[in-house]
Amino acid sequence: MIHGEPVDARRVAAGLGDRSVVLVGMMGVGKTSVGKRLAAKLGLPFVDADAEIEAGAQLTIPEIFDRFGEAYFREGERKVIARLLASGPQVLAAGGGAFMNRATRDNIARRGVSIWLKSDVEVLLARVRKKSNRPLLKTHDPEQTLRRLLAERSPIYALADITVESKDGPHEAVVDMALRRLAEMLCGAAERANRRIVEAPVGRRGYSILIGAGLIDKAGDEIARIARGAKCAVVTDENVASLYLDRLVASLDAAGIAAASIVCPPGEATKCYSEFARVSEALIEARIERRDIVVALGGGVIGDLAGFCAASLRRGVRLVQTPTTLLAQVDSSVGGKTGINSPHGKNLVGAFHQPSLVLADTDCLNTLSEREFRGGYAEVVKYGLIGDRGFFEFLEANWREVFAGGPARAEAIATSCAAKVRVVVADETEQGERALLNLGHTFGHALESLTRYDTKRVVHGEAVAIGLSLAFRFSRHLGLCSGQDAMRVESHLKATGLPARIQDIPEFEARPQDLLQAMRQDKKVEHGRITFILARGIGESFIARDVEEANVLAFLDQELRTAPN
Ligand code: NAD
Ligand code: ZN
Repeated sequence: MIHGEPVDARRVAAGLGDRSVVLVGMMGVGKTSVGKRLAAKLGLPFVDADAEIEAGAQLTIPEIFDRFGEAYFREGERKVIARLLASGPQVLAAGGGAFMNRATRDNIARRGVSIWLKSDVEVLLARVRKKSNRPLLKTHDPEQTLRRLLAERSPIYALADITVESKDGPHEAVVDMALRRLAEMLCGAAERANRRIVEAPVGRRGYSILIGAGLIDKAGDEIARIARGAKCAVVTDENVASLYLDRLVASLDAAGIAAASIVCPPGEATKCYSEFARVSEALIEARIERRDIVVALGGGVIGDLAGFCAASLRRGVRLVQTPTTLLAQVDSSVGGKTGINSPHGKNLVGAFHQPSLVLADTDCLNTLSEREFRGGYAEVVKYGLIGDRGFFEFLEANWREVFAGGPARAEAIATSCAAKVRVVVADETEQGERALLNLGHTFGHALESLTRYDTKRVVHGEAVAIGLSLAFRFSRHLGLCSGQDAMRVESHLKATGLPARIQDIPEFEARPQDLLQAMRQDKKVEHGRITFILARGIGESFIARDVEEANVLAFLDQELRTAPN
């Protein structure tokens, strides 16, 4: 969309379909005033969640807080928002703390488009002082409290689909900007209809993950937005080059960006010292300097290698990830891990280097082999199993469309990226939560290692699928999770054609001790104890550091004996 062009609000409303616009942000930022005006323009009803709660309880919010406490209020708030989201498109103002609730956030992601109205503390203070009905600010130092809440909540608010700055000016300007950003997201060319944006508030500035059909051809415009006047070097592999390199370079060219191309052989062996040296030298020869950009076009191998080159070239140049495998779109391109393999082991040499932008073109996945796609899908299922039962249920109902490339594909990728971002962000403070991402991987890595990484027998994603099923079956064996949930995990994996039992690997021969030994060699062992990610149910995974080896052996013995059903 051209800047300054008037926005057709009716088309935005049509683009929303039955989704609601949900305004989130701190108290005092103007959600009600902005929301009413935005709703009028869109021709939708406006609903204030707080007002609904007060009407339902026949009490004011300060009264609910006083009588029943914050936890009670939050639970009621979650239910009210769920009901409102289910009742058709509207503009909904959510209370300041509502978006902090995981379940509410997930619900909003599925049924709405969220807009964070962002403001600095001075503007908020000026507005909040005029009102006295803010229970959380009834402290001796409201300014201090507001600052603390803003600092705590901002990284979560940043997960909203859209961020709009609300300065001390008229609300009209905020409404116009919100409408413009909605139009960018929902309208325009047909391919935009499926585009999703996940904001990743990590790294110095944070970055956007754009997900949608045809993004390769828009890469030039998107990169020009973040780096006007920069040069690019595209790093890719031979397979991907033959499919997408020309289109990417043409798009850069159309946006006036000069681009060099560096093509590597395909395959895991490319993540090595010699390719690292060769690509780094080629980047220097292409005169990629501090202001310029390395574009990684390919799967996780290229993302990791090119990312590591970008991290070390001139002590760090910007990186744009253009992931072309499902695994890269939902896992390796998000989170900032880059690196190469050593003869001693995988990923032993590397660096954290956050991208400046991720462009995940969902159409690229149409040229992946079925087996490659399915392998990546195991990681998608993993996110549902870790902490989002609703997402798992969405996958059960929509996996065919995810495979076929309908709107559910972008939805599944966006939800997966958002889940990974959430864990990565949380781990900046909460040590160790990142370990949850290893669900299915402790068993999975052991299976890969015992089959000597022979991808004819089992590829990473297949090993993860079996690992996910084993993690749930082991949880059931320990009496932690219901047999029903464990069955459901297995059934879903099987329905998509993924393996779910050790016996699904051709000619697999191992004793329980061999598997345990292989698990011990995985790098996630602390002080000789293997960390397991177990589950109390679908979407309720947790880190277990105190599992008895005898229990593991008994379980594995049983698994290796039972015939697959
Ligand atoms: P990959 O990069 O080797 O890609 C798989 C194959 O698909 C390759 O042959 C590639 O040429 C081909 N290909 C890629 N895109 C294609 C397309 N659109 N159409 C047709 N063919 C295409 O493998 P991968 O599974 O994407 O990534 C695996 C790597 O990712 C491993 O090295 C792993 O260590 C790494 N990884 C990194 C992280 C991280 O956080 N950095 C996380 C998970 C995995
Ligand atoms: Zn994995």
